[in-house]
Amino acid sequence: MTETSQSFNAKSTVKAADYEHRRKINFNISKYNAVVPIGKQQFSELMVARERAKNAKWRAIETLDQQLEQFEMLFTKRGGKVIWAETSEQALDEIGKICTEKNCKTVVKSKSMVTEEIHLNKFLEKQGIESVETDLGEYIQQLDEEPPYHIVTPAMHKSKEDVAKLFAEKLGTPSNLTPEQVTLVARKKLREKFIQAEVGVTGANFIISDIGGIAITENEGNGRLSCAFPKTHIVVVGIEKVIPTMADLGLFWPLLSTYGTGQRVTVYNTIVCGPKQQGETDGPEEMYVILLDNGRTKLLENAKTREALYCIRCGACLNACPVYKNIGGHAYETTYSGPIGSVITPHLKDMDEYKHLSYASSLCGNCTEVCPVRINLHELLLENRHEAVEFGMASLGEKVAWKGWKAASLSRKMMNMGSGKMKNFVINKIFKSWTTHRSNLNFSEKTFNQLWEERNANGK
Ligand code: SF4
Repeated sequence: MTETSQSFNAKSTVKAADYEHRRKINFNISKYNAVVPIGKQQFSELMVARERAKNAKWRAIETLDQQLEQFEMLFTKRGGKVIWAETSEQALDEIGKICTEKNCKTVVKSKSMVTEEIHLNKFLEKQGIESVETDLGEYIQQLDEEPPYHIVTPAMHKSKEDVAKLFAEKLGTPSNLTPEQVTLVARKKLREKFIQAEVGVTGANFIISDIGGIAITENEGNGRLSCAFPKTHIVVVGIEKVIPTMADLGLFWPLLSTYGTGQRVTVYNTIVCGPKQQGETDGPEEMYVILLDNGRTKLLENAKTREALYCIRCGACLNACPVYKNIGGHAYETTYSGPIGSVITPHLKDMDEYKHLSYASSLCGNCTEVCPVRINLHELLLENRHEAVEFGMASLGEKVAWKGWKAASLSRKMMNMGSGKMKNFVINKIFKSWTTHRSNLNFSEKTFNQLWEERNANGK
C-alpha cells in the first residue's frame, strides 16, 4: 500500500461515518437533483444531443494537434500570445515571468480547476503576489484555507451557517449573516481587488478552434471582470478543452449548464478572442493563453483512455457517485475527485501512486449514465485496474490470492475439497479486508456436485 492510498483509506473511513457531513452533502445534492430534470426538458432529443456532443469531442481530440494550431494561428493574428506548457512547472514559470514584467502585486482569479491543478495560488504567494479568488465558492474556500471540494461547487460541504461563521472569524462580520448578506460582504471586498489587480487569471471552459477564441461560463460575472479589468489577462487551460467550431457552443453551453447546475443556460457566457483591439474601450492590453499538457497526452496516446479527455467538467458524475457522496471531495486528495478524477488522476500523476482510486467504485455505472458526453467512466475505471495489473503494480498478496482463486475455479477437485465450514474459515481469514465492513462469505455445506448427484438420485 502506498502512503497516498493509506491516507485515502483513513480519510474515507472517517468521512463515511460523519453523519453531519453526509447530511450537508445530501441536502446540497438533492437541490441539484431537483433542478437538473427541469433543465433537461429544453432538449427535445436529449440522447441525440449527448451523442452529438460526444462526436464533436471525438473529432476535437482525434485532431487535437490541428485544432490547437488553428486556434493559435487565429488568436495570435489578433495580438494574443499562446504559450505551450508541457508541465505545471513550465506554466508557473511563464506566469511568474509575466507577473514580474508587469510588476504585479495583486492577481484576481476566476474559478478554474486547472489553476488548482498547477497550485497557482501557492506559487504566487511564494512570489509575494496576492492572489484573490473572486468566485464566491472559491473565495469561501480560500478564506478557510481549503482546496475546492467539488469541481463545480467548491464549498458544497458547507452549510450557510458554516459560511456565516467563517466570515465572522476571518472578516469580523456578525456571525448570523444571511447568504444574501454574506454575498454583499464578499462583493464589496472583491470589487476593490478588481480595481487594484494588475493581472487577471482565468481558466476556459472551451477553446474554440475555428474562431481562435476561448469561452468562459460562470454565474457571478467575476470571470468577465477578471478578463476585462486588469491590463493583463492570462488564461490557463488544459489542451483537451478544444471544440472544433463556434457552432458547437450551441450544444455545449446548454449541456454544461444543465448537467452542471440544472440551468437552461449559465448566466454569463463570454467569448474572448484576444486583447483589446484598436477602437475598443474594454478589455486587457495584453492577453496570454497557456495551453497546458501536464499528463494529458498520456491519456491521449492510449486509444482506450483517450475518451476521458471529452470531459467538460460539469460535475454530474460526482453528484451521482455513491462513493463520492459518502467520502466527499477532500478524501481523494486530488484536484479532480469523483469518478472522472479517479479515471484521469492515475494518468495525469502516477499510476502506481493513484491506482487505488480506480478501486474506489462500486462499478454501478451511474456516472456513465449521467455523463452529458457519454464517457464510459465505469469501464475506464476497469481499464485503469487492468493497466495497473499489466504494468505489474499489483501487490504480491493480491497476485497470490488471484492465482489461488483461478487455480481453484479451474479445478473441480479443489472446489470440492473440505467442508463448507472449513472453506468459510480459510476464505474469511484470507479476505480479511473484505470482511472488515461486510458480513462473512458463506459457503454452502454441500458442494455443487453433491447437490447435483442428490437431485439426480432422487430422479428430479
Ligand atoms: S466525466 Fe462527464 S459527468 Fe463527469 S464531470 Fe466530466 S463531463 Fe461531467
